[in-house]
Parts: sequence; structure tokens; C-alpha cells
Amino acid sequence: MTVLSPFEGLGDRERAIFAAADALARGAVAEAEAMPEATEGEQHLRAAAQAAGLFDLAQRSERETLLALVVVRERLAATGAQRRHAALGPSPGLLQQASPALQERFGQPVMAGLKRQAFAFTDDPRAPVTAAPTHDGFRLSGRKSFVTGGRRADHFLVYAKSPEGPLMLVVEAEAPGVTRDDFFETLDGGQHCALVLDEAFVPAAHSLGAPGQGQRQAFDQINRTRLTLAAEAVGLMAYAVHRAASHLQAPRPDGTRLGDREGAQLRFAELWMAVFTARSTLYRVAQQFAGTGAASPGDTPPGAPEALSALKVLASETAEQVLSGALQLCGAQALRTDDPLTRCYREVRSWQFAEGASDLLRLSIAKARLEKGRGAL
Ligand SMILES: Cc1cc2nc3c(=O)[nH]c(=O)nc-3n(C[C@H](O)[C@H](O)[C@H](O)COP(=O)(O)OP(=O)(O)OC[C@H]3O[C@@H](n4cnc5c(N)ncnc54)[C@H](O)[C@@H]3O)c2cc1C
Repeated sequence: MTVLSPFEGLGDRERAIFAAADALARGAVAEAEAMPEATEGEQHLRAAAQAAGLFDLAQRSERETLLALVVVRERLAATGAQRRHAALGPSPGLLQQASPALQERFGQPVMAGLKRQAFAFTDDPRAPVTAAPTHDGFRLSGRKSFVTGGRRADHFLVYAKSPEGPLMLVVEAEAPGVTRDDFFETLDGGQHCALVLDEAFVPAAHSLGAPGQGQRQAFDQINRTRLTLAAEAVGLMAYAVHRAASHLQAPRPDGTRLGDREGAQLRFAELWMAVFTARSTLYRVAQQFAGTGAASPGDTPPGAPEALSALKVLASETAEQVLSGALQLCGAQALRTDDPLTRCYREVRSWQFAEGASDLLRLSIAKARLEKGRGAL
């Protein structure tokens, strides 16, 4: 029985992408995961993804590519493999819409794997980052509390408030006044740090837009990540359901199968239905967000912010329930820390915070409907 089949509403192009991702998942992803050295496994997978034409999907700026990216991320996550991320090349994120000079200096080295970048949005509430204008740039001061991959980053995309409005800036890690501290690891194994800015000078040419554009730019990036994170969540849920099904169907020492008992069947059906619902929402929102309803390429299509918030809450919260329910059905052996099911359980928990805490997204949905005249169903 296959883990995942292509979503019914996909067109020919995305079905072809699904077939390529499916072949990769069954072949190179499984091979890479079995290799003793992580670097060797990741190189093997990267080469196979390049040959399959999937590697650069996360590096392309067109919004239409997002649906294909959802298809690939979901299918690869349904392997439960830790090294699956190596199949997609590093994305320059917001630099895709930056000036040619910024793309050349910062974006292209990121895509080529020569430089690393990190997204610094979340302020330490005690010292939010501000940008004071000078005649040729900005002086940044304050503290970002939670920067994933910050320790190894060569530059940061920093959100800062200036007197003329918020803006996004490229800040080089080695620039005077830029330091990092508070290095920590989260439950999912992610590595993070705080970014400290002390009157750090950033030239005007390193701004991604005029003051006032920063919030829209940052949220376009955050919305894209909410969508791809939901795709990962649905993929991992599909993996969990597959593991539970395999366990229920396997013969036990006394010749019976757990799956023959109605109690276990009922529990299993709850998991399956939850994934079915989350997956339907994922593709509905992916089609809405990747569609052409936006006025310009950087704009979010109407209704998409609420839809993406709802999807992120649904996918991340359901993922925790489904992974936990699958673990329960698979028995205590699955709780081994080297079991992929347990690793996936740790991975999904953090997604109820990353890209916006669940309750804050609920509040944004309520405000859109009750105060801003948006959010029609
Ligand atoms: C794995 C991971 C990776 C991350 N990576 C990055 C990154 O690379 N860059 C970056 O900038 N940030 C990153 N973050 C930070 C992330 O964006 C924040 O954790 C998130 O926005 C939530 O903010 P917070 O943790 O400060 O929670 P808080 O805002 O302190 O909220 C804590 C809880 O309080 C409640 N709450 C808060 N405000 C309200 C309210 N107004 N009304 C009612 N209830 C409320 C909610 O229940 C919420 O869950 C990452 C987080 C995680 C977990």
C-alpha cells in the first residue's frame, strides 16, 4: 500500500512533479537515510534531486511554483526521513525580490551553498530592533531573540522599525556592532541564537525596500513558510498513519492482529480522518495562495492571510495529535529515540510556535473578520 497518492485536484504539471518526488522518495531518499555518514547521504540525495529537476524548486520566486513545492515537501516528508531536506536547495527567501546587486552579493551565494543566511524577525520584547536613519543608511540597535541557524549565518535578513515605518535589511554577521549570544537547541533539534545589534551600521543599499514596506515583505516570507510548513506537517502525518497501519496489520506472536480489534480500528480511523481533513485544507489553501489573484508578484492574494493562519494552526495542532496517536497504536517500542516516529513527534511540536503561535493566529483570524471587514467564508 502506498503512503500517499497525488491529491485529486492537481493538474498535469503537479501530477508529474508528484511522480518525480515519489520516485525520489522511494529511491534516493531511502538510500540517503541508510548511509552511515550524513554528509554522504545528503550529497547522494542532492545529486538525485538535481537529476530529477526538483532541487531548485525552493529557489524560484514565482508564486506558481509554491504548489509544486507543497507537492514535493509533502511527499518527501511522508518518508519520515531526517535527511529529506537535502533534496531542496537553500532558498534566498526575500532576496528573490531584491535589487540585482543584493541578489548577486547575497542571494546567489546562498543558492550555491557558499553562504548561509538566517531570518531575524522575532524581537526580544525588552529590546525591539530599531533602525535610526543616517545620511547614507541606518544604525540598528536591539535584540532578536530566536534566530534559527544564526550561529553559522554569514548574513541576516533583519526586520526593524524606523521612524518612517518598518523595513527589511541585509545585515552582515561580521559588521561592527553585530554579535550573537544565547545559543540554544529546541526539542526538534533546531539550532538557534539571539542576534544583538549595537548601533550597527547598515548601508541604504542593503535595504530590501523603502521604509514602510518591511511588514508586507516579512509577512510574504512568513506566509510562504506557513504553507510549506503545513505541507511538511501533512506529509509527516501520512507517514505516521502508514506506520500505524503497518503495525496494526502485522501478525502478533499469538497469530492475531491488532487491526482485527474494533477498538484499534476506531483509534486508527480517527487518525486517518484527521489527516484527510488537514490534507484537503492544505491543497485548498495552496491553490488559493499560489494562484494569480494577487495584484503584483509581491502581494498576497485576497483572503490568503486568514486561510494560511487557519491552515498553519490546523496542520501543526493536528500533526501533534496524529503523531501522538500513531505512537500509542505502535506501542512502546516506537518510543525509542532512534525511531523515526519519535523523531517526527519531536519535530512537529515546535510548529505550534514557529511562524506564529497558534493562539496569536486565532486572534488574527478573529480580528480580520470582526474588525477589518475581511475573512468572508
Ligand atoms: C523552531 C522554531 C524556530 C523559529 N525560528 C525563528 C527564526 O528563524 N526567526 C525568527 O524571527 N523567529 C523564529 N522563531 C520564533 C517564533 O516566530 C516565535 O516563537 C513565535 O512568533 C511566538 O512568539 P513567542 O515564542 O515569543 O511566544 P509569545 O508571544 O511569548 O506567546 C507565548 C504564548 O502566550 C500566548 N499569547 C501571547 N500573546 C497573546 C495574546 N495577545 N493574547 C492571548 N494569548 C497570547 C499564546 O498562547 C502563546 O503561545 C522560531 C520559533 C520556533 C519554535
